[in-house]
Amino acid sequence: MAFELPPLPYGYESLAPTISEETMKYHHDKHHKAYTDNLNAGVAESGLEGKSIEEILAGASTLTPKVRNNGGGFWNHDFFWKIMAPGGGQPSGKLANAIAEFGGLDKLKEEFNAKGAGQFGSGWAWLIADASGKLKITSTPNQDNPLMDVVADRGTPILANDVWEHAYYLTYRNDRPGYLKAWWDVVNWNEAGRIFDSVAG
Ligand code: MN
Repeated sequence: MAFELPPLPYGYESLAPTISEETMKYHHDKHHKAYTDNLNAGVAESGLEGKSIEEILAGASTLTPKVRNNGGGFWNHDFFWKIMAPGGGQPSGKLANAIAEFGGLDKLKEEFNAKGAGQFGSGWAWLIADASGKLKITSTPNQDNPLMDVVADRGTPILANDVWEHAYYLTYRNDRPGYLKAWWDVVNWNEAGRIFDSVAG
């Protein structure tokens, strides 16, 4: 069973003006679709059919660049769509408590934005949790992610922001820090909280 491009959980226009309709269309229909198609090709070439994407990524050190890069791109974008939603909100429950222990939401946003801005070239900024529920902010190059055995800081992703230029250039041009700052308006805190509860429950 080949991997399939998951549908967006909301309309292309739903995250505007933070993320424009045009950006969403290209990002989902072109970029995410290409990662999906190229992952399927790479999986077939490597004889990995039948494995889950999480199983594949956990063994990233053994993968061809094609499977590592496109498998990461497939998973990362699926995650990215889910942890955004129109309307924003605020963290609550256990995740809010963990953020308070981290030093508060303002500190978390500041560190996350700095990681995203400081990631040279393309990549991702992450908020991850370890098995005890302790939060950490990291970044990865290209389409690597914290599920991969090649990444120094492994953990369960709670939030992620895509800092590839295709994620923001149509609206923000070269202003990656401006995009990172604005992005918090569309964070789906309910979903982030649900994921956190499943780790730290
Ligand atoms: Mn992307």
